[in-house]
Amino acid sequence: MKNLWTQDESSKYTTDLELRVYTSQLLGRNDELVLHGGGNTSVKSVVDGEDILYVKGSGWDLVSIEKEGFAPVKLDTLIAMAKLDNLSDTDMVSGQKEAMIDSKAPNPSVEAILHAIIPFKFVDHTHSDAVVTISNNENGLENIQKVYPNYLIIPYVMPGFILAQTIYNMSKDLDWENCDGIILHNHGIFTFDNNAKKSYDKMIAAVTLAETFIEENASVIIEKYVPRATLDIEQLQSIIKTEKQCDIVIKVNQSPLALHYASQRNIQTTVCRGVLTPEHIIRTKRVPLVLENNNIQGAIDKYKEDYESYFEEFNNDKIMLNPSPNWAVIKNFGTVSFGKNDKEAKIIEDINNHTMMAVLRADILGGFKSISLKDSFEMEYWELEQAKLKK
Ligand SMILES: [Zn+2]
Repeated sequence: MKNLWTQDESSKYTTDLELRVYTSQLLGRNDELVLHGGGNTSVKSVVDGEDILYVKGSGWDLVSIEKEGFAPVKLDTLIAMAKLDNLSDTDMVSGQKEAMIDSKAPNPSVEAILHAIIPFKFVDHTHSDAVVTISNNENGLENIQKVYPNYLIIPYVMPGFILAQTIYNMSKDLDWENCDGIILHNHGIFTFDNNAKKSYDKMIAAVTLAETFIEENASVIIEKYVPRATLDIEQLQSIIKTEKQCDIVIKVNQSPLALHYASQRNIQTTVCRGVLTPEHIIRTKRVPLVLENNNIQGAIDKYKEDYESYFEEFNNDKIMLNPSPNWAVIKNFGTVSFGKNDKEAKIIEDINNHTMMAVLRADILGGFKSISLKDSFEMEYWELEQAKLKK
């Protein structure tokens, strides 16, 4: 992976926070590291004699983040929170807000406590495609261990307080100086250093390791397919509009990748194995609609039925989201993404493009395997993710 740091550009940034802005934007410039609001970064600094963690505020994209996109939170309060036995995510969010020294700043990332307990000045976190391709796999634990021998490796845990608490407990006896980074299975990677450039360099170097592993073990040849099926796009759009009870923008993808993906055998099982990184679920749902013939309404009814039983299986006291799909894989045709507006449809399409490539590669590595149905449900219905959608 190309390192985008330049001496020329970086010379404009001098303070801790400015350097944090610069390397965060560098991470954001590569969509194989983070997509649409994904990932987060922080820097520990001193303000009026007090230790402060500046952490990415929710609602900001790394690619365009500025100083005001970082929430300044008292470091001691965050570390004290990591030591609690129990804390609901809602209480975590309000506790983090109360510990901010600027009430006008955005809400701190849900991963703020995790950033606080890593004892380095700069902390970088991405959902690198290459890392999650290796991790979301039947052989994920084994291969991650092989590629990252000096990393703290964390089995999948739901983001939020429980993840911070898990890492706090697992790192109590850790020799941080000899730890190259942290891998969160099925989720992403952390690197850190006391120097902004070094922390960024470590991320690029770490992701390059994963890319090399994939090149050597899972190179995918995208076949040149031509669409062999047709689709009544207007009919599909009209049905989805009725199902979702709002206007729908659709994006048809017939790129070589989308066509290759939609031309696989057994697509019903191949393309319905879950998300690449947990937060994608609020955009794409766990699985797409699969259309193998012209009976669009029939396929959607079946999709809704399956969604409702998934909801019933894990629901405690939640209200079900609209059960219709957010995207579709159409056999021998390509994919279609549905959004309330152009921006949302584009976000879903971007996520799908990254997911499709990762699934194809992961299958060569031993079989794509995402988080469990239960973990998917907990993420999809996590109060903090639901709150993001309402914004
Ligand atoms: Zn993350």
